[in-house]
Amino acid sequence: MPRVTVVGAGVFGLTIALSLPRHYDVTIVARDMPGDPDSLGWASPWAGAGFGGGGTKPNDPEEMEMLKAAFRYFWTLSEEHPESSVKKMRDVFIRDNVDTDSDLWWKDFMPDYRIMDPSELPPASNAKIGITYTSLVLTPATYLAYLFSLLKASPNVSIVRSELSSLEQLVPSSSSSAGASPFGAVAPDVIVNASGVGAGSLVNDDLVEPVRGQTIVIRQPDVDHMTLRSGIDYCYVIPRGDGTVVIGGIKEHGKTSPEVDPEIRKDIAFRAHQLDPRVPSSVEALDVVRDIVGIRPGRRGGMRLEAEVLELGGGSVPVVHAYGAGGTGYALSPGVARRVAQMVDAFVMGDQFPHPRLSTRGTSAVLATEREEQKAGRCNVM
Ligand SMILES: Cc1cc2nc3c(=O)[nH]c(=O)nc-3n(C[C@H](O)[C@H](O)[C@H](O)COP(=O)(O)OP(=O)(O)OC[C@H]3O[C@@H](n4cnc5c(N)ncnc54)[C@H](O)[C@@H]3O)c2cc1C
Repeated sequence: MPRVTVVGAGVFGLTIALSLPRHYDVTIVARDMPGDPDSLGWASPWAGAGFGGGGTKPNDPEEMEMLKAAFRYFWTLSEEHPESSVKKMRDVFIRDNVDTDSDLWWKDFMPDYRIMDPSELPPASNAKIGITYTSLVLTPATYLAYLFSLLKASPNVSIVRSELSSLEQLVPSSSSSAGASPFGAVAPDVIVNASGVGAGSLVNDDLVEPVRGQTIVIRQPDVDHMTLRSGIDYCYVIPRGDGTVVIGGIKEHGKTSPEVDPEIRKDIAFRAHQLDPRVPSSVEALDVVRDIVGIRPGRRGGMRLEAEVLELGGGSVPVVHAYGAGGTGYALSPGVARRVAQMVDAFVMGDQFPHPRLSTRGTSAVLATEREEQKAGRCNVM
């Protein structure tokens, strides 16, 4: 069986692992996993999470296609697998910097899309335009546990907890007499790097940037729709459909402080109240379930989704990188996973079968093959 090692058990790593064909021998290697105690070492447990139309690169055609694919996938999950926590939810999208929707790619895509009459909007929302449509929300801890349970029940998937200092550790060294690697005596055919902000040190990517977020989970059952304001101010109110609501948010580039900032708390309550007056404006009046601090895996210039062949352990190993989703990792994850599965297939199957040793294949040949495989568009998650 082709061997694929996925580094990372965040929403990217888990969704990617589920997207690989069942006849592949898949190993997930990660430091943090669903069900772990709180840790700022990864982002996935700390998201809202609501589906927005924005990706990591403005109006990037590939990201738009991935977001569309993801929306269809989550829509189906909401209908067929409610245990995943995915729910349809009306969204109110407020822009406080422009009064047009002409630049929104998703205006012809989102169900029930319409521009709202100003009288429908909260008076303090600072809206130049308000738009409503049907979107999707999920509860990260439940959704991650759902993905993880599917993987644990898959006979072709192994899960190994380990913190890597380099991808080289996944490959037995040809120069060592023992040739040992804690991950097996045989090198993976492909490595998928879905290590989030960890990629900064794991593959020395200087573009990786932590982006600190802080939110408050409150009990407020009467909030029945999501509201997001963007443009000048970035703020959201995301009901999870279980009586709790996540209010946020902030983006602090380059910061990683784990402490809850009391001034930011006050500010979040004030701004969330502007978006939905049912949320109390004073932090003392909130029915707080918990405060959240989370570090988004930002990347200057946008997400890295690309394949390359690296020299590891004395041989050439194909690596597919998928990290740097910033604040849109859930929304992108099913689309990214489908794309990664195509890239992995291109390496594993190639244009000849049985394929020659991967170490004899050059990067350009692999990428040419990948383009062929893209046309086939195979994936089992969507
Ligand atoms: C406050 C907040 C609100 C958000 N709201 C939303 C939202 O509403 N909608 C949305 O779509 N997104 C939202 N996000 C963003 C979303 O959470 C992230 O984009 C997403 O979780 C990134 O997933 P990931 O799998 O790429 O990375 P992570 O979840 O960070 O996972 C990385 C994985 O790699 C592992 N790893 C890292 N380094 C190593 C190493 N050296 N060795 C072994 N394992 C390693 C980690 O242990 C972990 O398993 C929000 C994020 C925050 C913080």
